[in-house]
Amino acid sequence: MEKDLSKFKNILEWLAPKRSLRVRIFVIVLATGIIPSVLMRYGIVNNYEERAVEQRSTSVQTQLLTVANHLINNHYIANYRMQNAAYHTSEQIIDAELEMLANLYDGRVMIIDSNFKVVKDTYDISEGKTIISEEVIKCFRGENTSHYDAEHGYIELTTPIVDTTVASSGDNQNTVVQGVMLTSISTDSIITTMEILNRKALILESMMIMGIVGLSLFLSYVMTKPFNRITEEINKVKNGYTAEAISVPDYAETVHIVDAFNQVLSRMRTLDDSRQEFVANVSHELKTPMTSIKVLADSLLVQDNAPAELYREFMEDIVSEIDRENQIITDLLALVKMDKSKQDLNIVALNINDMTELILKRLRPIARKKDVEVVFESVRPIVAEVDEVRMTLIMTNLVENAIKYNKEHGWVKVKLDADHQNFTFEVSDSGLGIPEDSLAHIYERFYRVDKSHSREIGGTGLGLAITKSAVLLHRGTITVSSTEGEGTSFLVKIPLNYIAQ
Ligand code: ADP
Repeated sequence: MEKDLSKFKNILEWLAPKRSLRVRIFVIVLATGIIPSVLMRYGIVNNYEERAVEQRSTSVQTQLLTVANHLINNHYIANYRMQNAAYHTSEQIIDAELEMLANLYDGRVMIIDSNFKVVKDTYDISEGKTIISEEVIKCFRGENTSHYDAEHGYIELTTPIVDTTVASSGDNQNTVVQGVMLTSISTDSIITTMEILNRKALILESMMIMGIVGLSLFLSYVMTKPFNRITEEINKVKNGYTAEAISVPDYAETVHIVDAFNQVLSRMRTLDDSRQEFVANVSHELKTPMTSIKVLADSLLVQDNAPAELYREFMEDIVSEIDRENQIITDLLALVKMDKSKQDLNIVALNINDMTELILKRLRPIARKKDVEVVFESVRPIVAEVDEVRMTLIMTNLVENAIKYNKEHGWVKVKLDADHQNFTFEVSDSGLGIPEDSLAHIYERFYRVDKSHSREIGGTGLGLAITKSAVLLHRGTITVSSTEGEGTSFLVKIPLNYIAQ
């Protein structure tokens, strides 16, 4: 088992470099260069062998046919049987011809008569012997055969000795084919040429392979260079040497990768900027009440005999600054919780009408203090899937703002409606209104139209940021319309059924 594991590990290690683009390019270029050159060498050498053997066989066969004709014309075989004077004269001529042929092709020629008896052997070994082989039998039927034995380096040929005069007179085959010439010729010269050819091709091939290896190394290096540059540039950003957008325009592919990276980089930069701005804002907002507290406390300390009423008055101011600090911290915590708690939403089907009434009941005392009348209009009963805590925050913030930023004897109207998909929660007021150029900023953290006025009435500038986050968590929308000096209207639209992402 352990052995198997280590074997598997070895295979993985062996495969690992193959995942590298450089190795892949190297292997592909190498293979496309080497395979054809090797095949070419084999092709050339084999083709030469085939053609050379074929040519040799045909030329020998042609010459053998000529000799065969001479044998017929001289009645060589017929005379041999009788061993007459005519045979001895023809023997000399034919022997010379056969000898020449055998020497020329470094081979052996045997003449076999119709009794399968060897009447002539240029090696002088088998004369008088009988040879019956498949080829010889075939040849007596008129076929001339040719067989190449590559292993032993010779070609064996059979040539029928045909008497054409008898053949034309329509006699039967056996009498037409008077004998067979069985020839074997050496192919040593072909093999030697083949070896020379192979050696030369091998030298050429080795040179080509060396060139291809060089080319593969060069190409694999050059083609993967842009990707290494991307890594280098990203590393520079990672190590903090630069935060600038990077550029590697070598290939369309590198441009795409780099573009995507630059987009992530710019998103990160925006996030970082907004985080820094948020931290600066938080520090500033938290410092303001602290400064006031310190100023109030200091001024009490420098007075030796400050009257008790003054103490009381200053202490009340200090307490209200502490309350403010508390409020900011509470809002900040609510906002942070809103940002990170997408997962722990507690979605339940709730009666929105009841919920609104409960919230308005809680806020009416504040409205009464400012002499603001709160009106509730519910078009239809609504049950929707919402997170109760967050939905309460949305409603409370909007209605509270409408009361806070209202005129004396003003009114606030809350309207609930729904269609088959969404319900709407609309809060309109007869208040101060929001200047047009501020409308785009009211959802930003710590943004307040009139800082001092908002501070006076206890605003932190976080209410609408919290509201918007809560609406987005419910996959809803919030829109505002306002006329300065006349009033504002916020419209929140939330799906009746929660849409999980
Ligand atoms: P704050 O805690 O200061 O009320 P918000 O985020 O709730 O902060 O609101 C941001 C700013 O938008 C407020 O400072 C105020 O100037 C303006 N605003 C919000 N609601 C209203 C409204 N109903 N009428 C007029 N101005 C409003």
